Amino acid sequence: MNIILLGPPGAGKGTQARRLEEERGMIQLSTGDMLREARTSGTEMGRKVAAIMDAGELVTDDIVIGLIEEKIKAAPNASFIFDGFPRTLAQADALGELLERNGKKLDAVIELRVDDDALVKRIAGRYTCGDCGEVYHDATKPTKVDGVCDECGSSNLIRRADDNEEALKTRLMEYYKKTSPLIGYYYAKGLLHSVDGLAPIDTVASEIASVLDALRPLDGNVKTP
Ligand code: ADP
Ligand code: AMP
Repeated sequence: MNIILLGPPGAGKGTQARRLEEERGMIQLSTGDMLREARTSGTEMGRKVAAIMDAGELVTDDIVIGLIEEKIKAAPNASFIFDGFPRTLAQADALGELLERNGKKLDAVIELRVDDDALVKRIAGRYTCGDCGEVYHDATKPTKVDGVCDECGSSNLIRRADDNEEALKTRLMEYYKKTSPLIGYYYAKGLLHSVDGLAPIDTVASEIASVLDALRPLDGNVKTP
């Protein structure tokens, strides 16, 4: 089963993707995480995209499509959660072709609906573990012990460079201009499922689980008559 988590920055895509990894053995493919990794490992591509990311703009389609292609090819039998990809119609078309070329299909697109005021609060309070990637929030999901990651015990808790008011404005504008048309695109393909992303994390997770469980009979080798 392959799914997309679709929604603006701060909608909860990464949080839910990590749960799906744990609960269903799927693999999260976050282009944002891949690009941040490229930056810290000092690759040529990482240097190229750093300023674009810090400003909150989108990097070029060919870069992210290339990153996703590598990951899909590297794990031919995996079930993927696409998180933060696709973000443009060109990326969505490319993903469709990529999956087809690799004998895979897209099973569902889950839109996480969150209003803009909530996004600002979520982004302002977000921090992540620099070692294992667990996502936290000052108010809604703080670490149990101050300054220590619940999952791996690391004290390397970090705030993203682009989680500031100025970059967020650009990121939201990019979302509405370039990514939100994907909602109609996937609706027309019959793949769209919308979930209330304003609900608590556990509630959102069970809403997503209901959507995926309803799809399961058509997954795997089960054939329809
Ligand atoms: P995205 O990957 O869509 O940018 P994240 O998963 O990083 O979003 O979530 C953004 C922030 O909001 C994080 O600090 C996270 O802990 C918090 N968060 C995520 N989902 C919820 C939720 N359902 N309710 C409250 N806070 C949430
Ligand atoms: P994210 O972690 O998904 O919030 O992404 C952080 C930043 O990485 C974005 O603001 C973009 O600059 C860049 N980025 C991530 N994914 C994509 C994508 N699919 N297309 C273009 N840029 C992306």
